[in-house]
Amino acid sequence: MCNFCNKEFVAQKYNTKSCSNRCANLSHKMKVRQDKENMFNDNEIYKRLLHKLLVSVERIEIALELYGVKQQISKEELLSPEKYCELMNIHRKTLTRMIQRNEVAIIKQGNKILINKNQLKNTTNDKC
Ligand SMILES: [Zn+2]
Repeated sequence: MCNFCNKEFVAQKYNTKSCSNRCANLSHKMKVRQDKENMFNDNEIYKRLLHKLLVSVERIEIALELYGVKQQISKEELLSPEKYCELMNIHRKTLTRMIQRNEVAIIKQGNKILINKNQLKNTTNDKC
């Protein structure tokens, strides 16, 4: 049977796959085109995968950046009450009073209290 037109034919040789030169040529051209299409499809798949990968990397980079910024804030901008008292040279009870009088802005994280560093400048050091 011809591999191009599917017509039955008597083969001259055992390995002849097409009924005529015309069918052999067309069959060859079709195969070449098919290969090209497959190659193109493969390229498209790789391009899409690469794009996905790049998007993922971008997301990871953004996440890491945000994480880094968060870490910086928690490490550099926020103080524990104990650290704040130490830097301000005040007693912990004094700080509690200052918080109650709204003299110091606090940040609540769960049941923890944190104080922004900018509160160091704004508050006068009175130990009443
Ligand atoms: Zn044929």
